[in-house]
Order: sequence, then C-alpha cells, then structure tokens
Amino acid sequence: MKGDVEREYLSPDLNLLRMFRLYKEKNPTSTAKFWLYRDIFKQQNLSFGQPRSDTCAKCDALFSKLTAATSDGERLKIAAESELHHRKAEKAYTQLQADTEWAKANDDCHVICIDMQGVVFTPNLTHSNVYYQRQLANYNLCIQEMGTDDPPTMCLWHEGIAHRGSIEVASCLLKWAETSFTPLVQAKERKFIVYSDRCCGQNNNWRVLNLMALLVSRGYFSQMEQKFVVSGHSFLPCDRSFATLDKRRKAAP
Ligand SMILES: [Zn+2]
Repeated sequence: MKGDVEREYLSPDLNLLRMFRLYKEKNPTSTAKFWLYRDIFKQQNLSFGQPRSDTCAKCDALFSKLTAATSDGERLKIAAESELHHRKAEKAYTQLQADTEWAKANDDCHVICIDMQGVVFTPNLTHSNVYYQRQLANYNLCIQEMGTDDPPTMCLWHEGIAHRGSIEVASCLLKWAETSFTPLVQAKERKFIVYSDRCCGQNNNWRVLNLMALLVSRGYFSQMEQKFVVSGHSFLPCDRSFATLDKRRKAAP
C-alpha cells in the first residue's frame, strides 16, 4: 500500500524545476520533458522540506478516527476526547505564563524552556553538487531563561561529536547550570522549573531526572521541577529564536 511507504524529504532549497535542471545537467543527452519528470517524481513519495516534527500525533490520530467514525455516538466520544486534549494543552501554556510571572517576582526562582532545533545541515550551499552529497548534521539545544531579558543559550554541536538524545540534553543542562549558578550556601533556597515538550528520547526520561537529583545534591538548587507542554500546541520561546536563526541562515552567503 502506498500509505505504508515512509515519505522521504529532500532539501527545502530544492524544487521540482531546479531538480529537473540538475537532471538535465547530469544527463545532457536526455530528451525527457518536464511533464514526464514531474509525473515520475509524483510516484516516488518524496516531498521538499523537513518533516513536520511538531504536529500533534494525538490530534492527527483523533482526526483519522473522526473521519472513519460511523455513528453519532462515536463522533461525540471523539469530540470529547479532543476537547480534553486541547484543554490540557491550554492549561500547560497558562501554567508556563504563571510560572514566568512567579520567576520575575522572585529572585530565587528560575524558569527555563528547553527545545531542540530541527537538524541544520552544513555547508550552507545551494550549488548542484551539494544535493548529491552527504551533508554534516548539526544539532542545537536552546535554553531560554523566562522572565529575564537575557538572550537564549544555544548549545551547538555536530554529529561527529555526539548524538541528540537524553545524554546530550542532560550534559547541556549540567554545563549551563554550572556556568550560570554557584552552589548555594547553607539554608538558602533556589527553586527551578524546566519546561520542554514530552519527547521521551530527549527530555522526558530518567537521565534528565537523575541530572536534576545531581544538581540538587551538589547544592545548585534547593528544589527542581520538570513540566511539559503538549507538543504541537505550544509555541515555546525557543521557537522564536530558531525562526530568527533560520532567517539569518537563508540570507547568509
Ligand atoms: Zn493535539
């Protein structure tokens, strides 16, 4: 079945016309017309750009269920489930705003948002040979302290250094905490909340929890909490920084 074939994504800098020109460059004797190239391309289950990683899997699943529903009772049940899901997303976002105000009002309270940017491939070139070659994947974890005017901390590394899993997220947080704070002297309090999406491979796992226990035991914080927003429904401040980076990268020579 066509639906079972995993869709693959080509560079967002490409389009069909550019690909056709590249094909003609590589095969100057070919007499194939653009319409034929387009028709064959359409059968390949390919798209341009990167997969939309921040769409909500739950919403997609509920939408599929709704279109397949055969009775009004079933439809009502799905609508109720969707309503509950959206309320949860709304509540998480409201909570983030409330915690940000709390951090602004209290010097010994800190709230951060962390998020991993989509993979950035380098070098940032668009000449034809680049599309036939393997590019270097770069990973970027953004740490934004809420309630301050401080710019975000971007932890950047490439695939030759490390992966982009829970170990790397925990390492970045450890480095950030050690460079931003000094251990507390006795009887002082410093409360800390980390917001992120619920990605198990990166944020929602025992390694990040262990790191929090470590930071408390070393005296950097007196209390740590981890809170999650609903992926695909919450625009974390890190997304704004990523959008700025993307814009600058596209304009870069
Ligand atoms: Zn959703």
